Amino acid sequence: MAKGKADRRTKTTTKTRTKGLCEGCAAVCCTELAVVINRPRDKDDVDFYKWHLQYDTVNIAISNHRWHLVTKGRCIYLTDDNLCSIYKRRPRTCRRHNPPDCERFGQWYDKLLTTPEELEQFIEAEKMRRRRRARASRR
Ligand code: SF4
Ligand code: SF4
Repeated sequence: MAKGKADRRTKTTTKTRTKGLCEGCAAVCCTELAVVINRPRDKDDVDFYKWHLQYDTVNIAISNHRWHLVTKGRCIYLTDDNLCSIYKRRPRTCRRHNPPDCERFGQWYDKLLTTPEELEQFIEAEKMRRRRRARASRR
């Protein structure tokens, strides 16, 4: 989920956790923080993202061509029984995140990159695709 400002997937409303579609959910949306990032524009960007992916708590998710840095972790306001302890003053981003349009009901990204090698392979495959398209358009 993208953090705050950026993407509605950021975090969740735990509000309905006790009823309706949030019931019984392990609060997936409160245990992952996704922040929208720029797609890498040059080798420095790639190197920077590779450094992030060295950490086993960090992934990159691509959804509809938007890139997100996803960090696993648990919101400090999530209770042991997966309820929001600050429900009434939870952030706006959490308020905007609701089922069924959430990770509990389906994968929200098209591609998940978990290691520096996967990122390199993805960038390489993208380059190949671009070259093929360019060649095809010249015919
Ligand atoms: S992942 Fe979806 S169902 Fe689960 S708590 Fe978050 S908003 Fe509710
Ligand atoms: S503030 Fe509440 S709703 Fe928002 S991420 Fe934390 S526990 Fe979830």
